[in-house]
Amino acid sequence: MREPIFQPLPDKPDHPGLEKEMLERWEAEGTFAKLREQNSGGPRFSFIDGPVTANRFSLGVHTAWGRTLKDVFQRYKALRGFEQRYQNGFDSQGLWIEVGVERELGLNSKREIEEFGLEEFARRCREVVVRSSEALTRGSIRLGQWMDWGKDYFTFSDTNIEYVWRMLKIVRERDWLYLGHRSTEWCPRCGTSISQHELIGSYVDRADPSLYVRFPLLERPGEYLVVWTTTPWTLPANVAAAVNPEAEYGRRANGEWVAAGRYPDEHFEEKRPGAELLGWTYRGPFDDIVEVEHRVIPWDEVSLDEGTGIVHIAPGCGTEDFELAQVHGLEVVQPVDEAGRFYDSFGWLHGLSTTEAAEQIIGNLEEKGVLVEAGLHQHRYPECWRCHTPLIFRIADDWFISVRVLRQQMLDANATVEWTPEYMGKRMDDWLRNLGDWNISRRRYYGLPLPFYPCTCGHMNVIGSRRELEERAVSGLDQLEELRRPWIDRVPVRCAECGEPVERIKEVGDVWLDAGIVPFSTLGWQSDESVPGGYGTGAAKGLTTADLPDNAYWETWFPADWVSEMREQIRLWFYSQLFMSVVLTGGAPFRRVLGYEKMLDENGREMHASWGNTIPAEDAFERMGADVMRWQFAAQPPDRNLLFGFGPADEVKRKLLTFWHSVKFFVDYANIADFRPEWEGLEPEAVEPLDRWLVERTRAFVADAEAGYERWLSPDVMRDFEVYLDDLSNWYIRRSRRRFWDGEEAALRVLWYALVQSLRVLAPILPFLTDHLWRTLVLNGPESVHLAGWPDVPEPDRALLDEIAAVRRVVELGRQARSTSGIKLRQPLRRLVVEGTSLDGHLEEVADELRVKDVELGPVEAVELRVKPNLPVLGPKLGRELGTVREALAAGEFEELAGGRFRVAGRELEPDEVLVERGGREGWAVASGDGVTVALDLGLDDELVLEGEAYELIHLVNTLRKEGGLELTDRIVLTVPEAQRELADRHGEWIAREVLATELRVAGDELKLEKS
Ligand SMILES: [Zn+2]
Ligand SMILES: [Zn+2]
Repeated sequence: MREPIFQPLPDKPDHPGLEKEMLERWEAEGTFAKLREQNSGGPRFSFIDGPVTANRFSLGVHTAWGRTLKDVFQRYKALRGFEQRYQNGFDSQGLWIEVGVERELGLNSKREIEEFGLEEFARRCREVVVRSSEALTRGSIRLGQWMDWGKDYFTFSDTNIEYVWRMLKIVRERDWLYLGHRSTEWCPRCGTSISQHELIGSYVDRADPSLYVRFPLLERPGEYLVVWTTTPWTLPANVAAAVNPEAEYGRRANGEWVAAGRYPDEHFEEKRPGAELLGWTYRGPFDDIVEVEHRVIPWDEVSLDEGTGIVHIAPGCGTEDFELAQVHGLEVVQPVDEAGRFYDSFGWLHGLSTTEAAEQIIGNLEEKGVLVEAGLHQHRYPECWRCHTPLIFRIADDWFISVRVLRQQMLDANATVEWTPEYMGKRMDDWLRNLGDWNISRRRYYGLPLPFYPCTCGHMNVIGSRRELEERAVSGLDQLEELRRPWIDRVPVRCAECGEPVERIKEVGDVWLDAGIVPFSTLGWQSDESVPGGYGTGAAKGLTTADLPDNAYWETWFPADWVSEMREQIRLWFYSQLFMSVVLTGGAPFRRVLGYEKMLDENGREMHASWGNTIPAEDAFERMGADVMRWQFAAQPPDRNLLFGFGPADEVKRKLLTFWHSVKFFVDYANIADFRPEWEGLEPEAVEPLDRWLVERTRAFVADAEAGYERWLSPDVMRDFEVYLDDLSNWYIRRSRRRFWDGEEAALRVLWYALVQSLRVLAPILPFLTDHLWRTLVLNGPESVHLAGWPDVPEPDRALLDEIAAVRRVVELGRQARSTSGIKLRQPLRRLVVEGTSLDGHLEEVADELRVKDVELGPVEAVELRVKPNLPVLGPKLGRELGTVREALAAGEFEELAGGRFRVAGRELEPDEVLVERGGREGWAVASGDGVTVALDLGLDDELVLEGEAYELIHLVNTLRKEGGLELTDRIVLTVPEAQRELADRHGEWIAREVLATELRVAGDELKLEKS
């Protein structure tokens, strides 16, 4: 046997197997390097990667989604010849990393970290980043992402840190930096404040104590204020009780004062407006521990929807309370320390956590006889997004950047950005409009050291670079391993004002400073010279060979043409970048953004390790394959949550199998026909109408997919592909089968063209499968589909395509009509009537497809029109007249008007006022849609029945051929039973031809086939 021209394909693809093979070939052939070489000097497309946090040891499927979208559009742009940057980024310092290391080491508090030793702690944090970045890189490569691995940026590099320093110095020079003394959300476990952008989405349902407590009034013995609280630990910090001056308060017979409106059924001995309670003083619940004056203050915001209408105020434990303290000159009592434990000055409470204290406080109040009632209260309460500890409020000194001046500039900059989906741009506007000042300081260890050196002389020294640090350092430079705690803390600088040595503040920076600076730090903004390998400094030394480019490079690549991350990054990375960019350049750092929603499991639930419904990317690679994952990701509309899982993967595999079978079909018949296509002659000259159609259809697919990619909407590309695939396999191939059996070269050439072009279109989304099939189909062209460029096709003939689309619609309706009739598709029928479309020159095709003898155009009289009143709409409108209209409709006494309206009983009814059904009359099957109606005559005669039997027999024999393992070209001798003699006499020749029988015999009572 001669060697086949095309490598034969198995019945179905082994995705993981062929993917691993492709990875090896890309590696061996240097495909990615060749692509970059090929595009070097081309037009530029600037992509900047948002950093992934390097704290996990395998790629998550969530991350794989984003990475796929980035890769899809970079690959598409590469096919179009764009020169690009492929730098991957890792977020490599901050609380995420610290929390993981703490867990690993079993450290439970900041004190334990300090006892463990900050140097060793820093080294352990770096180790996590090293291991994690290696694992994430492996996973990303397996996913098929093409990046400049090994030249990644790490936000913990000294270079990156210096760039943030430089930005902060500018912020300071513009007087936007300040130390705020305010009440802030605080994680007692992490021992640090939490900023606004970290709070969103962190509210969970919780049950907390619910207490009603009496505050005895000093001037009115035997009378009390009753307050309600869900945070018992704040009661020792109480200094005031707030009332609404406008509301009415009442005194119960037992002396308790509450808002009268809260208890409408109660009898009150005395009533007074809130304004008259102001200034009353009372004994605090913990005056035995904290000596402080307590009084009644006014507050318009006092809620009359819950509690007693009298609000307990503890300025040391709440934002609004703190603000009220400023207005009314109240004392601020801060009961707990950084770890959320009571200070020693709080007597028997000292050392207790806020939750531990709750029970003891309740018991103590009961002993004192001031507890009215204690229960539980369900509410939404914020917790720490990293460690899930419930947050508390503390007064803290934090460093802030004022956004007052920047807000409008950021809004203006955002207005220049093209957002997909559009509403995400509006979300960014909302975020910017409501944004408070940026709290940039964290009381932690493994993070960007804030370069602030406040001097006792009053001068605030801000260091803007390593060089400046070295110039001004008093000591400690020799031990400065990295710009990081603890080493940096041992380098005091000389105050620029008084010359005295000054120490750095202990705080580190918000991680979003690290990530936001990336469009500057990685592109060499204001860098005097290009330094090869110059980005790999500090902790990043040895981890990356990334260069520090010079300012000319930055000018070339900034702003990014495109960035893409999930929606939550609006308030995180997109925001922090925008912020920095507005500070440093006045404009936006990106031109276009593709955002996307959340990933859930296939049943629509959040994925949680504890629920057992997370899917590690490794499992997905092995069980579905990277291409199948990528299909799910790419097909997902970005404005909806992605339901990811093995169920949807099977659906994708089924579709991919159709495509695979189309290619296999070509390979099998091309090998039989010894067909050898030339890459040079890719664009075919099609003569046959069906061939011409497929060529135009393919061109249209290329053009439509191109438009989808250009809109940054891969789901549009996938939708176009699915329709195209159906046209290719269910129309072109099915209608051309005989020509392939006959080895007709024109058909083979056109099918080859269609397959090759679709591989090129899909290459960015399914990089493995397409390249595997490319290497099967393209014998003497570019060695990889990824090096073949984007197909350059002429404008498709849309008129021709519309024409065939109409034919396919009629056929589809015909099939629907058949399926409602219960008559098999193989049974020929006499007649089809089509109304509403012209079918010019395609009557025979339709007849052939639907197996009817005759197709007529004209009014479909077989349709019975039934019209009923749409009661919810028409009932209220007609009232008692409804009965008359209903009867007339039921009796068929109505007239159909244009636009779906009806005249009945002297009234005209609108389309939405009636329910219309079109059904077939007896003996007909009818289907309609899009203004087209078809009717099938279901009448059968002997001749039709016999023909139907012939089709059945052909189908049966061909199935037996396949099951018997016969080759497509094997000839057979067919024996049909005596009972089918008439069939053999009348249709023998036809049957023999269809099943490749050299001889047809009639004998015995069994169907037999043998190889001849
Ligand atoms: Zn925490
Ligand atoms: Zn000074």
